[in-house]
Amino acid sequence: MSEDLRTQLERLREDAQMRLAAVADAAAVEALRIALLGRSGELTALLHELGSVDANDRAAIGQLANAVHTEVETAIRDRLASLHTAALDERLAAETLDMSAPGRPVRIGHLHPTMTVERDLREIFHAFGFEVFEGPEIETEAMNFEALNIPPDHPSRDLWDTLYVAEPGSDPPRPAEDGTILRTHTSPVQIRAMQALPLPIRVIMPGRCFRYEAVDASHNFEFFQVEGLVVDERTSLADLKGMLEEFARALYGRDTRTRFRPGYYPFTEPSVAFDVSCLVCGGPGCPACGRTGWMTILGAGMVHPSVLRAGGIDPDRYQGYAFGMGLDRIALLRHGIPDLRLLMSADLRFLEQFPGGR
Ligand SMILES: [Zn+2]
Repeated sequence: MSEDLRTQLERLREDAQMRLAAVADAAAVEALRIALLGRSGELTALLHELGSVDANDRAAIGQLANAVHTEVETAIRDRLASLHTAALDERLAAETLDMSAPGRPVRIGHLHPTMTVERDLREIFHAFGFEVFEGPEIETEAMNFEALNIPPDHPSRDLWDTLYVAEPGSDPPRPAEDGTILRTHTSPVQIRAMQALPLPIRVIMPGRCFRYEAVDASHNFEFFQVEGLVVDERTSLADLKGMLEEFARALYGRDTRTRFRPGYYPFTEPSVAFDVSCLVCGGPGCPACGRTGWMTILGAGMVHPSVLRAGGIDPDRYQGYAFGMGLDRIALLRHGIPDLRLLMSADLRFLEQFPGGR
């Protein structure tokens, strides 16, 4: 009986090594581990028989059983490790990385032509000492109109076809009772700048504006403006003129000729329109400039006293000038783009023609 158990243990010891060598993967090793060492495994069954071994032999056979158990456990662990290494080697051999293969180009976006213009203007005005100040796209009628010297019944309100935010729950929708609108120009930001900033003020205010417009080649319901505002104790129309002339040369080149014409805006007095020599023909006249040789690029003027007052500034002590221009129009002129709608088309075939800045 004792001899038998010893023989069986020795045989299992050899068997286990051979069977382990024969298995090909981790799952098969696990199956073998259960077959040998599991609760009803072969070695476990032999260990149960130790109790019936003759007392004289029990210590020696017990020692042998323990040794076999440890050996089998170790052999299983080693076999798993070598299978893992082999699998890894195989993967490394199969998944080689060819460092000499040409890379795939990464598509990096670029600025929209209108935004490139905005960046350029920020840079030019930064050099003139202007800071950037931004305001909300959703405004109140009071800020968008009244504070800018445009009272409710003023005929000039017709110049700004307004998109109203609807009163919550109204059906059919009617304009919100608190006068919430989408701003029709960046001018309300002038009021916000005057209310927020210490004097003197020297800011540009870029941003998106909205109007209820029939969309065509030169009108859109959504567009971009940049507005400028300077408020100081000694600010004059001459300062405005000099600054705009320098601006036009910085944007369009040293040879650009400029002129001022009388203009009309409710929020400036006096008001001027600012023209540059035609960017297409340079002066003789062409279809792009209506054969005048000039192109109007912005409107400007001295800030109206009631606008200064709305901004909390004493018009008897301070004067200011303001100017505003359409970014989209500058982009169209710069690139000879014939239709404003292309700028909002989100069509990559169009946009990729204007790599611009990043
Ligand atoms: Zn022209």
